[in-house]
Amino acid sequence: MKRGLHTKLMLIMLLLNLSLMTVVGAFLIRGVLRFYQNEFYKQMHSVFSEDQAFAGDLRAAAAEADGAKKLDEIMTKKSSSLGINSDTRNYYILDGNGQYLYGSSKPVGTLEATPNILAAIATGKESYKSNSTASYMDVALPVSGENNKFIIYIRDDKQTVQALNTELFFIIMEALIISLVISVLLSFLLSKTLVTPIERLTVAAERVSKGDFTEKIAGETRDEIGILNRTFNNMASKLRNTLNDIEKERNKLITVFLHMTDGVVAFSQDGRVMHSNPSAERMLGRSLGNDWVNFGNVFGEFVSMDDLLTLKYPEYAEFERNIKGRDLEIALAPFSGYDEQGGILAVIHDVTQQKKSEQLRREFVANVSHELRTPITNIRSYAETLSEGGEIPPEMAKSFLKVIVNESDRMAKIVQDLLTLSRLDAEANFNFEKFSFAASVGSTYDSMLLEAKKHNLNLSLNFEGDLPEITGDRARIEQVLLNILSNAVRYTPEGGSVNVRAGHDGENVWMSVQDTGIGIPKEDLPRIFDRFYRVDKARSRASGGTGLGLSIAMDIVRKHNGSINVESTLGKGTTMTVILPIDAKLS
Ligand code: ADP
Repeated sequence: MKRGLHTKLMLIMLLLNLSLMTVVGAFLIRGVLRFYQNEFYKQMHSVFSEDQAFAGDLRAAAAEADGAKKLDEIMTKKSSSLGINSDTRNYYILDGNGQYLYGSSKPVGTLEATPNILAAIATGKESYKSNSTASYMDVALPVSGENNKFIIYIRDDKQTVQALNTELFFIIMEALIISLVISVLLSFLLSKTLVTPIERLTVAAERVSKGDFTEKIAGETRDEIGILNRTFNNMASKLRNTLNDIEKERNKLITVFLHMTDGVVAFSQDGRVMHSNPSAERMLGRSLGNDWVNFGNVFGEFVSMDDLLTLKYPEYAEFERNIKGRDLEIALAPFSGYDEQGGILAVIHDVTQQKKSEQLRREFVANVSHELRTPITNIRSYAETLSEGGEIPPEMAKSFLKVIVNESDRMAKIVQDLLTLSRLDAEANFNFEKFSFAASVGSTYDSMLLEAKKHNLNLSLNFEGDLPEITGDRARIEQVLLNILSNAVRYTPEGGSVNVRAGHDGENVWMSVQDTGIGIPKEDLPRIFDRFYRVDKARSRASGGTGLGLSIAMDIVRKHNGSINVESTLGKGTTMTVILPIDAKLS
């Protein structure tokens, strides 16, 4: 680039000089020529036309018999004032026909009959016609006396002026060469002051175009180049700030796009996947990054892309489909790009969990209604029988009333358990404190001793090592221990044994309740923590169970970041182990 601009500058300077010198030279040479010619005729006029005495002398000389000789003598005397030098400027005395008689020098060959000579012969009057293109200047003056007719002819063959012009030409050529050398030097100087900053600016612009904004252009001059440099630096820093802002916004949007829970897929107008986020791939259960994946094979079976492209903002299409086991709500709308390209944007919302929760809620309400209806029906029928006032033996009436009281207790227990569950769901206040886990296990054990004795069960308690104090909601943890221990007692037939052990393992404490009871069928194991789930409804109900005990226990343990393990063999017994962190934090 430097070479290009420098060469151009040099060429311009050279051409400028050349044309300037040519014009000046031409004017100078023409001016010299004109001046010389004007001077010649002025000189002739002053001698022949204005000097009347000289004209009279000429006429007198011409009248004499040897007029030509006399004229020659007069002219010889006047030679200096006419500038005659016998070389480039001569005078000639011609006869009336223009033939040479005398002169300052003899002409080589015959004297040329010039227009002025011919005019003097023809008109008998002096002729001063000048022709600037001719190689000579001349004047022809007819002089007559008595019978004699002569012509005084003065001719200058311009050699003096030509020599002068030749000299001038060489001077101009010399000046031209010197000025050309100066031009070359000046062009270097100009290139240094003009091209170098431009070159610096170009390098900086290239750097900026590659995204490198680290260096600024130096050069704090006050001229236009300095202003350009400052403007460029300002522009680059503004560009960098704008790009940084855009980059930040872009990163923010990408982060939101990648981590948003809703799935988003953008399709181009020809159906190609332009963008998709991991949620969309997870929900649709397929990769969207492959070339062959397009609108047709993702949503084509539900809606046509052409129909969607005709929608106008804020219209959009929405439908719900089960795709690969997931219930998905899909909203599709066209979008337009800045270059009118646009496409279709799909937003996918996974409602599987929502549907599941709704289903669970419905089941829960049905279960609650069912659980409450049974005791209410029982209470009502016994109460009705009693109120009919028939012949009911007192013993039977007493047993009826006992059923009514038992059923009321059951209802109260169910309501109490439901209240406990709803409090756990609502994250009701947990009262976290430090307490002795061993003491809680001991008091739970003690509270079940009587019940175990009633059922003729062999209840035992063993601590493995010293147990540390733990952090948690003491009352609720004791409820967990009680639920598990009471289940063991409830589901172990008479004569069986229930063995309670507690210990400490690293960051956790544990309580394990092992019974020799009825056990739990393998297929029911995953569901025993569900609300109202009971393996044997009749047995549970008969023993005062509500089907909510384990679900309450699990909720409480989870809130403490603990777990409950179950191992069971049908007909042989069950072992349930509660594991709790020593330093629990509410989760
Ligand atoms: P319930 O009030 O019916 O005992 P839970 O939620 O406490 O309800 O227990 C759910 C079900 O798990 C019980 O109905 C019972 O079928 C089974 N189960 C729980 N613990 C034991 C156990 N130790 N032995 C056998 N079955 C058990």
